[in-house]
Amino acid sequence: MADDKFDSIVVGAGPAGVAAAITMARAGLNVALLERGEYAGAKNVQGAVLYSKMLADVIPEFWKDCPLQRAITDERIFIMTDKSAIQVGYKSIEYAETTPANSYTIIRVEFDKWFSKKAEDLGVTLVTGVTVRDLIRENGVIVGVKTSEGDELRADVVIACDGVNSILAQKAGLHREWKATEVALGVKEVLALPREKIEDRFCLEGDQGSTTEMLGDITKGMLGYAFMYTNKDSIALGIGCAVDDFQRTNIKPYELLEELKRHPMIRKYIAGAQPLEYSAHLIPEGGYKSMPPLFTDGMLIAGDAAQMINPTHREGSNLAMAAGQMAAETVIEAKKQGVYSAAVLSAYKKKLEVSFVLKDMKDHKDIEDEVRKRREMLTIYPQLINRAAHEHFRVDGEPKRVHQKRIMKMFLKERGLLNMALDAWAMRQAIG
Ligand SMILES: Cc1cc2nc3c(=O)[nH]c(=O)nc-3n(C[C@H](O)[C@H](O)[C@H](O)COP(=O)(O)OP(=O)(O)OC[C@H]3O[C@@H](n4cnc5c(N)ncnc54)[C@H](O)[C@@H]3O)c2cc1C
Repeated sequence: MADDKFDSIVVGAGPAGVAAAITMARAGLNVALLERGEYAGAKNVQGAVLYSKMLADVIPEFWKDCPLQRAITDERIFIMTDKSAIQVGYKSIEYAETTPANSYTIIRVEFDKWFSKKAEDLGVTLVTGVTVRDLIRENGVIVGVKTSEGDELRADVVIACDGVNSILAQKAGLHREWKATEVALGVKEVLALPREKIEDRFCLEGDQGSTTEMLGDITKGMLGYAFMYTNKDSIALGIGCAVDDFQRTNIKPYELLEELKRHPMIRKYIAGAQPLEYSAHLIPEGGYKSMPPLFTDGMLIAGDAAQMINPTHREGSNLAMAAGQMAAETVIEAKKQGVYSAAVLSAYKKKLEVSFVLKDMKDHKDIEDEVRKRREMLTIYPQLINRAAHEHFRVDGEPKRVHQKRIMKMFLKERGLLNMALDAWAMRQAIG
């Protein structure tokens, strides 16, 4: 293979890389897909909720053979103290009545194997167990990659889909290592539980599924949240926080996860479940302001490698697939001209700008900074709204107006009218 020249080399067989490889192979391009894991998915971690629209854009009838777990019909948010939780959510069986459903839980190892096999079936040369260490340049233009085994592979264009710690983007001089404020660390356990128990505990029928995002005391004032997703016969339970917060507090991620498992609002859901696996992974959460340049002469970057994550909405794999597809379309157009200069490849950024990818990233670019400035969002507010609910539902012989006054007084004492108005204004501005 080392002697072959490809139309395109894609590095990384995650959602971004496989979507890019499939799109180019369908257009008749000769594509190599290089993956450092023993097999695609071997090193990948996700919650994992997968969104149908972006997958269907790459594999139109994916649901016919894709290893899906449950169709999400129930999306919940818990705002927690150590003893209580405000629980809000939306449940609709309509989501499960359409094919495909809006989103599904998946197990990344199974999904990545299936997805990369689709690429191979279309003629992509998938090489696993190979780590790309460097880029090859000629006259300043990227023309291929060097592997850790010392092989050199050449192509008209390289697409870097090598995830959060993108070696390729660094070697291309497009970005430095991330700062601790630009990445979160997520830890996750998969806990085996018989499907009847899952369906009873989460009130689900058949292959319906549930997601729960959890905020408040559980992150101990750190920027982050926890999640609990139902698979067919297991529960994925995890928590992620900003790396600078872990450094500042010296709290260990696995301690947070252990506390979450013992939390009175959570422990009954997972009672008796057997741990199947534990994993940890970085999540790029610097957002729009941390994105590197997305192209250079002979190379494009997509997915986590380019910070394409929307943590407010738990989205990443969908941005990665959409960006991978757009990077591939740009290469297909460049091939028609036979030119792979930065000027020609800049069409990629224009595609991203008119799509949801950069629109959402721009709209959410200030949220994390605002929350960092207003830590009360993570500490005082969860306490206040839980105590307000406690007061609201408590029946103690006092008239309701006394309860309402107590709630008002509590908010004014703990945060004050001006601060509450400023907090609301800042969050409104940050959400765009
Ligand atoms: C705990 C956690 C929960 C998450 N939950 C969700 C969720 O529920 N929904 C959602 O949409 N997103 C979620 N995400 C985010 C999502 O996982 C990522 O956004 C998505 O995987 C990005 O896809 P990607 O292809 O860009 O990168 P990756 O999936 O990271 O794939 C990169 C690939 O490149 C390979 N690679 C890296 N370096 C090299 C190299 N030098 N040479 C060869 N191969 C290389 C890796 O092995 C890997 O296979 C979650 C992330 C975490 C960590």
